[in-house]
Amino acid sequence: MPELPEVETVRIGLGSLLPGKIVRAVTFDWPKGFPNSKHDVSVFLIGAAVKDVRRRAKVLIIDLDNDYSLIIHLKMTGQLVFRSNDDLKRFGAGHPNDSLIGTLPDKSTRVTLDFGDSKLFFNDQRKFGWMRLVPTIEIPEIDFFKKVGPEPLAHDFTDQDFIKRLQRRPKSNIKAVLLDQTVIAGIGNIYADESLFAAKIHPLTLVKDVPMAKLKKLFQELQAVLRLSIEKGGSSDRNYVDAKGQKGSYLTFAKVFRRDGQPCLVCGTIIEKSRVVGRGTHTCPTCQPKPKGTK
Ligand SMILES: [Zn+2]
Repeated sequence: MPELPEVETVRIGLGSLLPGKIVRAVTFDWPKGFPNSKHDVSVFLIGAAVKDVRRRAKVLIIDLDNDYSLIIHLKMTGQLVFRSNDDLKRFGAGHPNDSLIGTLPDKSTRVTLDFGDSKLFFNDQRKFGWMRLVPTIEIPEIDFFKKVGPEPLAHDFTDQDFIKRLQRRPKSNIKAVLLDQTVIAGIGNIYADESLFAAKIHPLTLVKDVPMAKLKKLFQELQAVLRLSIEKGGSSDRNYVDAKGQKGSYLTFAKVFRRDGQPCLVCGTIIEKSRVVGRGTHTCPTCQPKPKGTK
């Protein structure tokens, strides 16, 4: 599942390629994922120029110059692939599979935006993703955007804000709260595990039992791991290409995620895998001792 850093990678890539491009044609037949009518698309999408590419949590927003926007959620298997017709400019990110580098459209292609000199393909093998064309002014009114928590990397988001948000759920375990999109936006399994390991907090620890100094440390580590991952082009560990044709490589830097059975890089204890809030969870039993009273 693409997480915040992968979607940010898409934003950075498309943000350098799309602005100024005019939508000349749209190919789509995906009523569940892209429910806008042919009429709306011909009136409000075709002929519009891309103004900006933004991100909120794991949602990508492509603003058009006619005060409409495309909002896109990649969900489990979505990906966005840009190709210039002369094939000199290529960019693809999101779910890592061969459609990122193969001939497009293919059978996973749900929507194609044709800019005349180039195309943007929204591919989604399992069709959990979606795309909507909406008036830009209505975006803040959409349920998802109303509920979603603050951006963990926003300049004005402080450790005190972070701690206050977590403490809204004092009796929940800290991993569940980190993954709660209404508390903080965009944190997924990889970044929860990595930041909890770095802050030496067991994922089952109740928020109220985590000392203040460790909550501050957790905030620093969470920001650091997200920034590192964005720098590396997202966490996807299989082939995909960024705007410069480079593959994302973050997982090679992961300290606990998918390292179960291997020695902890800090203390040498074997990393364990368990389930917390239904998610595969990676911990070092020495660096992150289990809270008393948990099994
Ligand atoms: Zn350790």
